[in-house]
Amino acid sequence: MELDPRTLAIYTTAISLLLAALAYAFGHARRVYPGYHWWVASLLLFALAISSIGLRGLVPPWVALVGPTALGMASLLAIAEGHRRFSGASQAPLLPIAVALITLTLMTALHDPANPLRHRAIGACGVGLLGIVVGWQLLTLTPAALRRSGRWCALLLGSFGLIRFARGLQFTLAGSGFDVLAPQISSILSYAANAVFATLWGFGFMMLCTARLESELEQSRQSLRKLSRVDPLTGLLNRRAFFSDARAELARSRRYPAPLTLLMIDIDYFKSVNDEHGHLSGDQLLRELSNRFRQELRGSDLLARIGGEEFAALLTQTPLPEALQIAERLRAAARDTVIDADGEAVARSVSIGAADCDPAPIDLEQLLRDADAALYRAKDAGRDCVCS
Ligand code: GH3
Ligand code: MG
Ligand code: MG
Repeated sequence: MELDPRTLAIYTTAISLLLAALAYAFGHARRVYPGYHWWVASLLLFALAISSIGLRGLVPPWVALVGPTALGMASLLAIAEGHRRFSGASQAPLLPIAVALITLTLMTALHDPANPLRHRAIGACGVGLLGIVVGWQLLTLTPAALRRSGRWCALLLGSFGLIRFARGLQFTLAGSGFDVLAPQISSILSYAANAVFATLWGFGFMMLCTARLESELEQSRQSLRKLSRVDPLTGLLNRRAFFSDARAELARSRRYPAPLTLLMIDIDYFKSVNDEHGHLSGDQLLRELSNRFRQELRGSDLLARIGGEEFAALLTQTPLPEALQIAERLRAAARDTVIDADGEAVARSVSIGAADCDPAPIDLEQLLRDADAALYRAKDAGRDCVCS
């Protein structure tokens, strides 16, 4: 066996078939993305296209000329349709279909048995153009998260297209005695390019699928992380996230000394909202109050719902006197927050306990105990007030 176009064609056919079989078996065994089976079909069609070159002499010359081109184009159209499905685009790959139809029409219309090279030139240029168009569509349709793998596949298709197009130009310029299967360097390179394309494309679409899987995993990791940190009713931080973030904040304030104040906020007589107006009204009041509190605080402050109707706010870079003013603002905001429960206006005041860790750095548990004690004093003092 030597490195001639025929040997390379056999290799390309074999590798395309093997990759198609492997990809099919893989896709059979697990869940695959839409479009995957079109890509498997593209490998199969590519194998048919290359192997049909060997039909020369066995079938009418016109069939031997148009067959490989039509199959090669079908392979590229399968790539385009696969990618349309993979990326969820709605429009059919109209431009690639048009390029394929025009090429095949020209090949038929300009058929001249005395000059088969003309058909080859049209066919190769058409396949080349189609490769470039499909590569371009792949580049533009690939979702942003998969751009790297998309670019790689588009580059592969574009290069394949350019090589086919150059081969078409070579046919145009060559004399009618040019034998495409003779072992000359340009033909060897052209057939080698087919082999390389089939091999790399087989990996290329697997790479696209893997990239998509990775990006989906990362997305669900992020949304799980978010879900595990957020209180679903109010959208505020939950108790666990608050404790972990507050601990980090305290560690920072120990490293770069800065005043820091914790507010514990408890809604007054909240149980009576549930008892008199139902749980849904209670929930609504919790949501409205959360929104108001969030508006009153800075983005850098931590605000969490740490119990049923209890909130904690860690005010960073805030000394106690300033924090007490903020607490008064929160108390006023709570009294202004009114919900409509079956036509009746419902509002509740809040009691707030404040504790700071200025100047001595203390741990979070101590800070919570101090703020809790202040909150109890606020409740004892008749509620709707701030104690420190
Ligand atoms: P105090 O002024 O002493 O704080 O009185 P309170 O009624 O606010 O306090 P208590 O601890 O007696 O009641 C808290 C209530 O909060 C009891 C519980 O039904 C209600 N609650 C806790 N979580 C939720 C929730 O997610 N939704 C609703 N609607 N109610 C909740
Ligand atoms: Mg309460
Ligand atoms: Mg309470």
